[in-house]
Amino acid sequence: MPTVRELRATHHIHTKKRLGQSFLEDNHAIQKIVSLAGPLQDQTIVEIGAGLGNMTEELAKQAGRVIALEIDLRLLDVLRKRFSSKNRVEVLDQDVLKYDFSQADRDKKITVVGNIPYYLSSPLLFRLVSYRRYISSCILTFQKEFAERITAHAGTRQYGIPSVIVAKYMDVSCELVIPPEAFYPRPEVSSCVVRMTVKKTADDPHEKLFERVVRGAFAHRRKNLLNNLIYMGFSKDLLDAVFFKSRIDSDRRAQTLTLEEFANLTHTLAEATQQSP
Ligand code: SAM
Repeated sequence: MPTVRELRATHHIHTKKRLGQSFLEDNHAIQKIVSLAGPLQDQTIVEIGAGLGNMTEELAKQAGRVIALEIDLRLLDVLRKRFSSKNRVEVLDQDVLKYDFSQADRDKKITVVGNIPYYLSSPLLFRLVSYRRYISSCILTFQKEFAERITAHAGTRQYGIPSVIVAKYMDVSCELVIPPEAFYPRPEVSSCVVRMTVKKTADDPHEKLFERVVRGAFAHRRKNLLNNLIYMGFSKDLLDAVFFKSRIDSDRRAQTLTLEEFANLTHTLAEATQQSP
């Protein structure tokens, strides 16, 4: 496999920082990421930000089909030349934040893999949650600090909106830490490969309210739950009744609430306000 530096030199590629271009050049790390996604036979993989294609090539050795998304026209050119003879690889000129994951495979759930440009981390995460019905798992390399936020538990400093929303729908774990030296150009911080496996749960009729409650509860981290929910527009009387019924102390802060407590609070609030789904 050609190295990142060789590919850049051959194709005269200057990396674009604004697109988060930092290419993974450690082949062991690439293989480990691909093995985390496996077994891949018969699977459809959507790779986010395929770059120069080294991970794409490793995925294509094993997967039934690889859909490689890229937004940079020069990199798309490199990818198209590199995979023109491999009909299992489809290279798409596609912004991942506009990609319709439901179209990737009409018959079965897909696996999403990617070394994510850091500026995309948060919006991408919520997009994947919204498309979870079409996804079996995601193996994504995030900046380590962001990975710590997604995998954080209640009561920790890192625990926040992404931790709660992702945990509701996915089992998450940090599988591998990759040091800056594994990338070219080198990022300033370490990265972490996160595995997110979509849970088999029934559809939640209060899904939208759940997300509103979580976002509202964390809106002002120093304020207690009662005040944050009052800011959302609920009356104090209603909230007093809801906190009493759900047996949650309204003086607590959002970062102390477990996923189950958020779910309970949402459910009780939905009943009290008779919110339609
Ligand atoms: N997968 C390659 C690797 O591991 O070496 C490249 C990873 S690099 C961190 C991220 C890639 O995502 C870049 O190639 C960048 O051009 C691409 N990218 C950035 N924004 C994107 C977007 N909105 N949609 C699709 N690809 C994007």
